[in-house]
Order: sequence, then structure tokens, then C-alpha cells
Amino acid sequence: MQIMYRSTRSSELRVTASQAVLQGLAPDGGLFVPEKIPHFTPDWTAMAAQSYQETALQVMSLLLTDYTQEELRNCIDRAYDSKFDIPQITCLRETDGVWYLELFHGATIAFKDMALSILPHLMTTAAAKNGVTDEIVILTATSGDTGKAAMAGFADVPGTRIIVFYPKGGVSSVQERQMVTQKGANVHVVGINGNFDDAQSAVKKIFSDEKMKERMAQAGKRFSSANSINIGRLVPQIVYYFYAYGQLVKDGKVPAGEKINITVPTGNFGNILAAYYAKQMGLPVRKLVCASNENKVLVDFFRTGAYDRNRSFMLTSSPSMDILISSNLERLIYQIAGEDPQVTKKLMESLGSSGVYCITDAMKAGLKDFYGNYATQSETSDEILRVYDSYGYVIDTHTAVASRVCRKYQADTGDHTPMVTASTASPYKFARTVVCAIRPELQSKTDFELIDALHEISGTAIPQAIEDIRSAPILHRTVVDVKCNQHSREYIYGYQFYIRINGFSDHRRRSVHRLFLVPADV
Ligand SMILES: *Cc1c(COP(=O)(O)O)cnc(C)c1O
Repeated sequence: MQIMYRSTRSSELRVTASQAVLQGLAPDGGLFVPEKIPHFTPDWTAMAAQSYQETALQVMSLLLTDYTQEELRNCIDRAYDSKFDIPQITCLRETDGVWYLELFHGATIAFKDMALSILPHLMTTAAAKNGVTDEIVILTATSGDTGKAAMAGFADVPGTRIIVFYPKGGVSSVQERQMVTQKGANVHVVGINGNFDDAQSAVKKIFSDEKMKERMAQAGKRFSSANSINIGRLVPQIVYYFYAYGQLVKDGKVPAGEKINITVPTGNFGNILAAYYAKQMGLPVRKLVCASNENKVLVDFFRTGAYDRNRSFMLTSSPSMDILISSNLERLIYQIAGEDPQVTKKLMESLGSSGVYCITDAMKAGLKDFYGNYATQSETSDEILRVYDSYGYVIDTHTAVASRVCRKYQADTGDHTPMVTASTASPYKFARTVVCAIRPELQSKTDFELIDALHEISGTAIPQAIEDIRSAPILHRTVVDVKCNQHSREYIYGYQFYIRINGFSDHRRRSVHRLFLVPADV
């Protein structure tokens, strides 16, 4: 069955999977969604015996139907290889009926590697399939982990260039160091004086700027996205929920066909949406527990049906979840609106203009698969300590948010269905908060001393990704502002930058309200 993709904001557009991957965002500003969610109810016992790569091929070929099996296998083999530090790519760690699904064994030690190690291959394959010879310029806003994982994936991939915007001061020191030391002739890293939402909104506006698109086309370039708004990120994320279920069956922890619950630490709503798609495809899941930190806009949304981003943005110890506009929620809204693009468009426009939208009671009924709650920073630290004291297992701050919310869910509902909790980052990435939660007396140590302390506390090897940044030179120092021009349209700009796309350049810096694209020296 061929699956086509539509925009959440108009009924006219209909593209193949590879075209959706290439474009990233739909031209009308909407997100691409599969026209139909395919069913996948395999023989669980047989699936349990498969490798990650085999499961990936099965799941991805159901959704990316215009890729041939050979193309997909090629992409999968190039993505899920020795860049991961365990051969099974991901693994489960049990603690009393809760299984932490470790998704951080890739090159940049966050779960973003699960999808971003394959996205460049899906994208270059898509370009070849569609006869696209333009250079693909990836614009990516990051709350900390996407940027590094995307650069690691795209660095020196022929025919691509990647520009990452991260909130200066809004990411952990390890995250920042990982990004600013990134090598590759085609990578650019820019800190912005603003938060993730500022970066994401600006990037989205650039994508839907027709004039910019024209100029890019003239220069033989086109934009795409490595954010989870790209369907090429979401589809590979569905795979690990199936794989994890197979592992539970294999280990005799869950009888084949029995339901599980899934808790996901959530920011942009990509990871949990992948779990929701898995459930819709047929994975036996009872509840999807959506865990937030103190930026709990989603918790309030699940409770009231009102999405309200008008609140102060909190910088927390789980920075990759410091987000007030969860982009992928649009895909869920589209579903619960009965796949009505007009309704979705109206709600998203309302979000854009007033920062608020409210769904109807009928739509609210569509949220019954979800439970939302949040953990404060002190609850998060307490949870890291509790899990360590009880099981000798060290979890990162994001996973700790999920872990704490999982316990809130179980206490609230009495539902003790086997729980898979997505473990989204290595604790080494957030060593300061993690170590201080367990050994507060080490607070005055430097970042790298804390990493060594974490090694002693956890007994786990220091990941290569950390060793790599100890002595790596800083290669990127640009920091820019996000400003509004006279039309109140936000763009990212900075004095070191001007638009320069193969011959086209605009030096009228003061009157330039457009975004720079490439640093001046490129
Ligand atoms: C990105 C990220 C999240 C949030 O995932 P979304 O798909 O944006 O909801 C959670 N934890 C970590 C460590 C991340 O990097």
C-alpha cells in the first residue's frame, strides 16, 4: 500500500514520502502527515528474534513506501552501525516493573541520534530519487541535542550544508561544547540571544518565506529541516518502540500481545508522537504518559484543552525540554480534529497571533490515550538520587523527569501495567546536575572533574562523545540576536552575517531585515 503525505494545513497538497522528507515543512507552513497510518501487527515472537536493523526495515518500509527495500536497507545499514556503542543499538534496563529504554548509545549520546543518524541518508536518497540536484541547506533550531546530532549526521555529506541555531546560555555546557567544536566544511553553528522557541519560530518563518525560497532556487539551493517537524525524523523513531516491545516479549517480561505503557520526556512532542503512531499502527499500548518539566504547557493542555504559551519560559536542568511551542502537537491536533486541515490551520494561526488555542470537547475526547504531568527541578534531582540509591543506576535529568512523572501516573491511577520509560540522554551529557543530585558536596568541581566523578559513581565507561570534547578546539563563536523588523516579522540576524548565496549578497546591513544565511567568510 502506497502511503502519501498531506499537510496538516491544506487539503490540496499530496506528496510522496521522499518528497516530504526533502521538503521538511510543507510550503503552507503545515507539517506532513501520512494520509493513512498503516497497520503493523507482526508475530511478536518472530519480531523479538530480529535485529534492530531488521525491525527498522519492516517498520520504515510501511511508512516510507516510495523508497525501495534496497534503498531503505542501504540507509539503515549506513545509519545503525558502529557509531552506536552497543551492537543492539538500544537496550532496556529494568527497575521494578519500569524498563528504561536507553536511546542514547549513538554518536552524540542523546536519543536524537536514533533518527538523525539516518535522516541524511533518507534525504540524499530522496534527492536522487526526485532528480533534485540543488544543494540542500538544513536549517535547524536546537534546544541542545538535535543540533549536535544533526551536525554529526550531516557533516561533510556531499550536497548538503547545515546551519544550527541554539539558545546561548540555554543549553548544558557539555551540549554547547559538543556543538561549537563540531568539524565539517559544511557546518555552521550560531548561538542566539533568545530561547529555543525564538530560534524555532524564526527558522519556521524562513521556511515559509517565498522570496527567500526563490533566491535560494536561483542559487541552486533549497532548504530542508532536520527538526522533528521532518517526517524523516519521526518515522525512524517509531521503530524503537516496536523493537523494545519485541525485547520484552523475548525476555519473557510481557506476554506477546499484552499491553504496555510508555512514558516519554517531552519537549517538541516528537518522540511521544512516534509512540502514538506506533500505538495506532498496532503496538499494544494502553497509556502514553507525557512528561514535562516546569515548562508544563502540555500538562495544562491535556488537563484543560487549552494550549497557552503565554507564560514565562523557564530554564531548567532538562534543557532539551525547555520548550513552550511543541511543534509536533500540530500533528496530533490534526488527527483529533478528524484530519481536518481547516480546523488545524485556524488553531495554529490562533497560536501564532495570540499564543493560545482551545480545542472542542469532541477533540478533547481524542486525547484519551494520553496522560500528562510534570516534575519540578527538585523532584528531578530527588528522582536521580532515588533511582541511584535503589538500583545503582544513574539516569540523566530528562529521563529523571520522565521517571518521576511515571511514578506520579502510577500513584494517580493505580495502573501498574509494565512501563517503558524513554531514556533520552546519557547522564554524562548533564553531569553537573546528575552528580550534584547524588553527591552535592562535589558542587564546586569543574565540568570535567564531575565527568570523572560520574564515571566513579556509575561504574559506566565515559562515552567517546565526551572524550572527544575534552581537548577539541572551539571552531564556532558566532552569537546573534533575534529581532523584529518593521513588519513585526522575526528573523534571526547579526552584524557578522549577511545574505550571500552564490553570488547574491546584500551588504546593506542596517536595512537588512532578512536573515543571513551563511557566515560572511563562506
Ligand atoms: C529532544 C529531547 C527531548 C524531547 O524530545 P521531543 O521529541 O522534542 O519531545 C527529551 N530529552 C532529550 C535528552 C532530548 O534531547
